Amino acid sequence: MRVDAIVYLMYHELQVAGRSLCHGEPGYVRYVVPEPDFRGQMNWLQNAGIRGISVSDALRNRTAGRIVITFDDGCETDLTVAAPILHQANFGATFYITVGFLGKTGYLVPRQVRELSDAGFDIGCHSMTHPCLSDLNQPDLHREIADAKNRLEEMIGRPVRHFSCPGGRWSLSVSEVARRAGYHSVSTSRIAANRGHSDPFQLARIVVLRGLPLTAFENLCRGRGLWHRQMRHVVRSTSRRLLGNTLYDRLRKLILEQRA
Ligand SMILES: [Zn+2]
Repeated sequence: MRVDAIVYLMYHELQVAGRSLCHGEPGYVRYVVPEPDFRGQMNWLQNAGIRGISVSDALRNRTAGRIVITFDDGCETDLTVAAPILHQANFGATFYITVGFLGKTGYLVPRQVRELSDAGFDIGCHSMTHPCLSDLNQPDLHREIADAKNRLEEMIGRPVRHFSCPGGRWSLSVSEVARRAGYHSVSTSRIAANRGHSDPFQLARIVVLRGLPLTAFENLCRGRGLWHRQMRHVVRSTSRRLLGNTLYDRLRKLILEQRA
């Protein structure tokens, strides 16, 4: 991997014994990483001398030997499971919050978002209601991107500068609306390492899925084997474009349910 390249990791809910997940369907659970695996991944980074940092840190100072850690959706385990492990490792991270999920079973409540922010973690926005942004008109995009930012800023009393796209559905309009709303970056699910010259309004991110072996995690952090993942992603996004978002999601759900 080139020296100026930096990998952005994307996590979601973490699983701990005795706690039910926010949702149980296979399409959701594949994004849920068990706590021991997450702890093992953070330990490996620490032992390898790679520091976990937030999106704000990464954009401020692009030096090598670091990795960006992000969480989407705003699950309660951001605070109860991830934060203590990250804190222990002296790692930063960005937690992208879906405003409309706050207070629902298994998700953070506003007070906990403030707690994460007060603990020094970066709070980003993951929209108001988690829609497919690429399907929305301008007023709806404004509500999902700009209004959600204002709500979070009132909640934590600090600026919210980073946005991540729900379901990775990015479009040029998303970045334009985000830029106008005062964001400094937009994260997508495009699979690549970001470089010094990468557009901060189209940042690539790599999802860490459940069951990822530690060796595969190591490769991913070093930017190896991304080509394979990119190919799979191209096939997926082409099918999505051909089928439309709704039909694609229905088919994907059916396939995953059969596999489970
Ligand atoms: Zn999401």
